[in-house]
Amino acid sequence: MTVRVGVTGPGGRMGRMLLQAITDSEAPCVLAAAVARPGSSLVGMDVGQLLGGEALGVRVTDDLLSVAGRIDVLIDFSLPEATLAHAQVCAEHGVPMVIGTTGFTDDQSERLGSTTKALAVCQSSNFAPGVNLTFKLVEAAAKALGDSVDVEIMEAHHRHKIDAPSGTALSLGEAVARARGRDLSDVAVHAREGRTGARPQNAIGFSSIRAGDIVGDHTVVFAGDGERLEITHRAGSRQAFASGAVTAACWLVKQPAGRYDMQDVLTQQESAR
Ligand code: NAD
Repeated sequence: MTVRVGVTGPGGRMGRMLLQAITDSEAPCVLAAAVARPGSSLVGMDVGQLLGGEALGVRVTDDLLSVAGRIDVLIDFSLPEATLAHAQVCAEHGVPMVIGTTGFTDDQSERLGSTTKALAVCQSSNFAPGVNLTFKLVEAAAKALGDSVDVEIMEAHHRHKIDAPSGTALSLGEAVARARGRDLSDVAVHAREGRTGARPQNAIGFSSIRAGDIVGDHTVVFAGDGERLEITHRAGSRQAFASGAVTAACWLVKQPAGRYDMQDVLTQQESAR
């Protein structure tokens, strides 16, 4: 079966990468729709031309409803409010969703969950295989080191990123908190300034840098007395996120309704090897 994939935000940093990743993919998938924000100047443009190549016969639309019947899965890396609106349409038409958007508030996450409860949804703060391995390494290190070390999570991204800390940094924090049997919201420390007092024991600290065109760096520091372990992932381009999301899309169309993440995709791939 050739999987017909729809992509939102075709003019965005990830949107463009996704269009390219689908076009270049060796997986049995085809780009079937590109959905821009309402009123976008890209509407009507052929996606191939948008990528600087030959026409592909798929024109950008700003109406997901008009193409929902022509796609098997939607990949959405846009904005929380937009993803919620897309989820509504996907739920009405039974279209599975791969969601890469980050920065949802708790309320938005809850709404997303209830809107898509009858759908197959693969949502991850990061679709890069290397980052997903990092989640596992960090969880293992946190388990092994326990409460004897202080954990700090540092992330750096480009100047246009609108949410902080990054969704990936939060997922890393959740991996540490889970390994220590705690709830991240009870131990997360998000900002330090002025007379902060000593570091609370068991805190998981977050620091964010926003500068230039940094694609995404994450470091988890486990600092003890006299030694320090650091686990770092650096993304050199957005390609790994995009190809990971396309892999997830082709996998998701074969799954029953439910909530999945990139770990599920990679775990099944590993066991199939
Ligand atoms: P971007 O600002 O470059 O792109 C967002 C795109 O969404 C824009 O093209 C915008 O026009 C479009 N958009 C907004 N409203 C829309 C609507 N209603 N319908 C259709 N399109 C709409 O941002 P980006 O760097 O591409 O990142 C997008 C999201 O993906 C962010 O939340 C980012 O944190 C996340 N992200 C996730 C991963 C991951 O692996 N999960 C990797 C990179 C980025």
